[in-house]
Amino acid sequence: MKNQEVARIFFGIADYLELQGVEFKPSAYRRAARNIEGMSQDVEDLWREDRVGEIPGIGKNLAAKIAEFLKTGRVQVYEKLKAEIPEGLVEIMRIQGVGPKTTKLLYDRLDISTVEELREAAESGRLYRVKGLGPKKAKNILRGIELREAYVQRMILGRALPIAEGMIVYLKARAPIDQIAVGGSLRRMRETIGDIDILAASEAPAEVMLAFVGMPDVQEVLLQGNTKSSVILGNGMQADLRVLDGESYGAGLLYFTGSKDHNIRLRSLAISLGMRLNEYGVSRGDKQVAGATEEEVYQALGLPYIEPELRQGQGEIEAAHRGELPHLISLENLRGDLHVHTNWSDGHDTLEAMVRAAQARGYEYVGISDHSQSLHIAGGLKEEEVIEEDAEIKDLQGKMPDIRILHGAEVDILEGGRLDYPDEVLKGLDFAIGSIHSRFTQPEEEMTDRVITAMENEFLTILAHPTARHINEREPIALDLPRVFEVATITGTALELNAGISRLDLNGAHARAAKEAGAPLIINTDAHATVGLDQMKFGVGQARRGWLEAEDVVNTRSLAEFQAWLDR
Ligand SMILES: [Zn+2]
Ligand SMILES: [Zn+2]
Repeated sequence: MKNQEVARIFFGIADYLELQGVEFKPSAYRRAARNIEGMSQDVEDLWREDRVGEIPGIGKNLAAKIAEFLKTGRVQVYEKLKAEIPEGLVEIMRIQGVGPKTTKLLYDRLDISTVEELREAAESGRLYRVKGLGPKKAKNILRGIELREAYVQRMILGRALPIAEGMIVYLKARAPIDQIAVGGSLRRMRETIGDIDILAASEAPAEVMLAFVGMPDVQEVLLQGNTKSSVILGNGMQADLRVLDGESYGAGLLYFTGSKDHNIRLRSLAISLGMRLNEYGVSRGDKQVAGATEEEVYQALGLPYIEPELRQGQGEIEAAHRGELPHLISLENLRGDLHVHTNWSDGHDTLEAMVRAAQARGYEYVGISDHSQSLHIAGGLKEEEVIEEDAEIKDLQGKMPDIRILHGAEVDILEGGRLDYPDEVLKGLDFAIGSIHSRFTQPEEEMTDRVITAMENEFLTILAHPTARHINEREPIALDLPRVFEVATITGTALELNAGISRLDLNGAHARAAKEAGAPLIINTDAHATVGLDQMKFGVGQARRGWLEAEDVVNTRSLAEFQAWLDR
């Protein structure tokens, strides 16, 4: 499957064009890349059937580039950009607080083309020679470099999982495989992933390994054996495949899923029961007593099955012993998505397209929440536009009786906690989501007061992406979360678990703390295009890491109950 290669070239072109100051095109390339990266069909198959145009976001121009790549193995525009632009500039542009304009300035004026040169210039004060780049900016840049280094080897969950799933589809089609699954932190839905682990059971391990090292995206084969092979993929990530015997498959899957803490606890539990647990099974003396499935391994240790997301060594084994494991929420429990953008603000698709896409996902209700007036860069709606959008929603509701369309807004929380629309406007909406989109660096006390003041507004229904972080790119704001949780129990404001793949905010640990404090929670995608609605599963993954059950999350309720919650 060449999907990842095509996606990588498109992401690359987007980066280069952005550096050149080209507008709009970069986001078109990125959108196409994301869609190709996330799809399960082989782009080459689609191309052979002349159906590339069916991929969302692929027009004539991009279809021609895909065809060029599949025919020649290259895309000329990309090769040309790559030859012209120093590679390090893209990396510099990605540093928090830099961006394309500053990168160009640094290159043009100071000839800086690597992160190392930038660090030196920021430390030595050479940066200050350029107008606009003072000591404060230099300090921010150094902080950004540090942040990036801490994460650079780890890929975000939402990008790694589709790659791993694509590999499984590929392998199944080419070798005899009895069982196959993703393991490691990916299976536990950790927000970032170090490498991809795949576990399989097969009678013909050599064939499986041959298919694995022959995947089109493999750049380097580190190891090829009968039980384990390792490769480096085009994006620099390592992927490992282990082929296990059928009678050891469950024990191996358990072992390679981790976490380490969970496994250590299980091993000492086995010892205390006079048994031994390793990656091949549970044994007593020379006799293997379990190993084929994870269920039977847990059972041999006197435990019920523990879901992968709970295997963090955070009390799950004790809870299992007490019979108090949570009945975890699942994707099927969600009845609506309340954080959805349309092209009224910065969304890509029309209101109707978004509502139809929500209906296609089986939802009973959908909440439209375009940006508010102060957020100019995201096309925030002026008060009169909110009224116009409402008219379009009412009109569409008439045509689509099977899904309830709720009209809300994502309202900026301004200085001091004031909301970006007056109460008269908020009162006319079905719900309002409050968001921090500015002044991210306020000290904790001010920021916490700002957020709490907003939550105390009776028209604020939901607090969006509470920490405002972007994984690997922007640090969380300084916010006293325990206080926010406590206030939410009083105001009834639902705290969002934003499922957007670069946010996952609240994360699992926060969600668990919020639940324990008794705060209401909601899982939303913050979709800016129809495909974005599919990110719900990543939010659910974090919710499961946070021990959440369906009843902890307000948008698992039926329309009538949800409406009653809104009207309370
Ligand atoms: Zn937002
Ligand atoms: Zn949003």
